[in-house]
Amino acid sequence: MKAVQLITHGAPGQLKYLEVPDPVPGPKEVVVRVRACGLNRLDLWLEEGALPMPLSLPRIPGCELSGEILSLGSEVSGWRTGDRVAVQSNLFCGHCEFCERGQESICLHGQLLGIQRDGGFAEQVAVPASALVSLPDGVQFNTAAALTLAGSTAMHMLTCRTQVKKGDWVLAIGGASGVGSSAIQIAKHLGAHVISTGSTAEKRDFAARMGADHVLDSSQPNWAGEVRKITEKHGVDLVVEHVGGDVLKQCFTCLARGGTIVTCGATGGREVPLTLWPFFVKEQKLIGSYGRNRKDIVATLDWAADGRLKPAIHNVYPLSETPRAFAALRERTVLGKAVIEP
Ligand SMILES: [Zn+2]
Repeated sequence: MKAVQLITHGAPGQLKYLEVPDPVPGPKEVVVRVRACGLNRLDLWLEEGALPMPLSLPRIPGCELSGEILSLGSEVSGWRTGDRVAVQSNLFCGHCEFCERGQESICLHGQLLGIQRDGGFAEQVAVPASALVSLPDGVQFNTAAALTLAGSTAMHMLTCRTQVKKGDWVLAIGGASGVGSSAIQIAKHLGAHVISTGSTAEKRDFAARMGADHVLDSSQPNWAGEVRKITEKHGVDLVVEHVGGDVLKQCFTCLARGGTIVTCGATGGREVPLTLWPFFVKEQKLIGSYGRNRKDIVATLDWAADGRLKPAIHNVYPLSETPRAFAALRERTVLGKAVIEP
């Protein structure tokens, strides 16, 4: 089969489009004919070798994939060849104390598809059958590939790790990103007033099209002060944050009393100073969020099926042009999602 392998780390790393042997399913695995696979910030971290876990090369990246089942391992039941599926990219053991509670996001033996084992920038991929999620009728392959990772990450943040009440003020950081564009849509459907941010006029227009009521210029040093003005000094009740560094620090300055910041990323910096006095006096919360649980993906695809959640696909590339898609993501010119169709 044709595949794209990461051969050496770097920014850019060396990505090669080449012929590799077809995958063979293990007893509890299936092989999926990949129809679409989304790009994520995670792919760049892998490319750079900048993830806090052992990485080995060569590796076929690609963690947000959908397709049809091509073959099944000897112990797989409940699935048939030809079934349309999406794949939960945070692979989980299914038997640790957290998996037993449905918290696969913090599985003790979790593995990331496309990072710690070969992923979806290929014509075929072998995945554990436990990670399959049925694709509802009417959800296209590239819609699934644009939502199952970033969209379900936002779903997990907004409906599992935190709750949104009707009338809440929600700040969705980076409205042109995969997580940000989904967070805006989810928060609006839950009845919130949504403020978002973008560093360019193009990104701000995009966030407004996703449904944000107000969009602030994050390249301006006082954007957090603008949030206080918009909310008439109340501040926001919830921040959906995925950048870290100085952005997370600034989020505290526009957070309401009793407000919550939920965060799932650290591209902008992994260490953030916290001023404790206002934090505890205002009884605020900082909540970590990592990946998703199965029910978050199911909800994401249900929302996609009935139109509540729309994928924001910026560009679709053939498999051979995967390096070009990586470059676009690296240069931060992607609005929403880039998707590969092998
Ligand atoms: Zn587990």
